[in-house]
Amino acid sequence: MSLFHRDTREEADFRKEVREWLEVNVPEETRHELDVTNPEVSREWHHKLWKRGWIAPHWPREYGGMGGAVEQQVILMEELARVGGPYVQPSGLNFLGFAIMEFGTEEQKKELLPRILSGETTWCQGYSEPQAGSDLASLRTRAVLDGDEWVVNGQKIWSSGAPHCDRMFALVRTDPDPAVKHAGISMLLIDLKTPNLTVTPITTLTGHVHFSIVSFDSVRVPKSSMLGEVNKGWKIANHVLTYERISGSSPKHDLISMDVLRRLATKTGRINDEAFKERLGKAGIDVIAHIAMHRWAIERVKAQKSLGFSTSVMKIAGSDALHGVTDLLLDAAGSDAASEEKPMDNDQQLDALGLFLLSRRSTIWGGAAEIQKNIIAERILGFPRSWR
Ligand SMILES: Cc1cc2nc3c(=O)[nH]c(=O)nc-3n(C[C@H](O)[C@H](O)[C@H](O)COP(=O)(O)OP(=O)(O)OC[C@H]3O[C@@H](n4cnc5c(N)ncnc54)[C@H](O)[C@@H]3O)c2cc1C
Repeated sequence: MSLFHRDTREEADFRKEVREWLEVNVPEETRHELDVTNPEVSREWHHKLWKRGWIAPHWPREYGGMGGAVEQQVILMEELARVGGPYVQPSGLNFLGFAIMEFGTEEQKKELLPRILSGETTWCQGYSEPQAGSDLASLRTRAVLDGDEWVVNGQKIWSSGAPHCDRMFALVRTDPDPAVKHAGISMLLIDLKTPNLTVTPITTLTGHVHFSIVSFDSVRVPKSSMLGEVNKGWKIANHVLTYERISGSSPKHDLISMDVLRRLATKTGRINDEAFKERLGKAGIDVIAHIAMHRWAIERVKAQKSLGFSTSVMKIAGSDALHGVTDLLLDAAGSDAASEEKPMDNDQQLDALGLFLLSRRSTIWGGAAEIQKNIIAERILGFPRSWR
């Protein structure tokens, strides 16, 4: 049974099968990692899930996915969250893959999609630049065609997973003087081992090497490495962002934090405090609403219906729900939150501070919360642009 849904007999059988397999296959020492601490473990885990046929419940069958029922996708997500399965690099599986299905040539589909599925090639996203984040269309990384190659110069920043990934899908400016700045941008698929390309890792507040700066100094990329048409990359960028917002708004982070919260509050006795219980009830309702919204979104995607600007609503709902739970985690941990020694429960560290810090990033990635609120105000509620 999930948080607010009673499994049918078939779903219960599937859940049992998943749970039993995960119990045997997720090594104890890799459970409940907060981020990618060991890229080899992450790759091995990806490969294992792929061999079991469970890496891509959301991919259509024609591209090697499970084409699974929405409930199966939700069950897999819930059970993986419960057991704390290792980190899997999401960019290829959850966003770029769908863009290749939509905009790629037959050769690109044949070459790239199976390698994303198997985990042979991992991808990171090269959108943000030091001077272009929220205002992404101001990006300056330049690609100029020279014979059969694009020559790329510029810099990307905050590229998640780049220190551990094989390739980057990067937005580059191919027309320096377009009529509107959203035009003249293209999407290049770049091997991170190409000469003159440098990846400089950035360590985060939680001590993880999650981000990096990627610098291009006349990096030569084959002409055939373009996804979609020259100067038409903005549409692809937004397609990717839609899938990124769905994937990143997965309630799995709420479920992981809620599980730690339940155990921690029971251990510290905070669970018996009436005011705490009231806040817990509110946080629980937000999580349930978030799960319902996510389920609705994957049903629509599966039915090939547009999500429109609702991904902005989902992103806000997701980060609000997660913040509600992780605020309570700090409350439940009390002064222990700042201690080096984390409370333990059945060999698992209950790292309230780690989860709290990680949750804060959810308002920034994939388009900051303020930008999503602008979109909701103007595109959904019909406020004029002058309201800003
Ligand atoms: C966990 C995480 C993972 C990420 N992964 C990647 C990745 O893999 N690849 C990648 O390319 N990027 C990645 N990013 C970067 C992310 O996309 C940017 O940080 C984000 O778009 C914001 O851009 P910025 O940091 O330049 O902030 P800015 O755009 O400078 O914004 C600073 C502040 O001003 C606010 N602001 C800006 N413009 C407006 C406006 N018009 N109205 C109201 N408020 C505004 C913003 O909301 C924000 O609070 C990641 C970020 C995080 C946190």
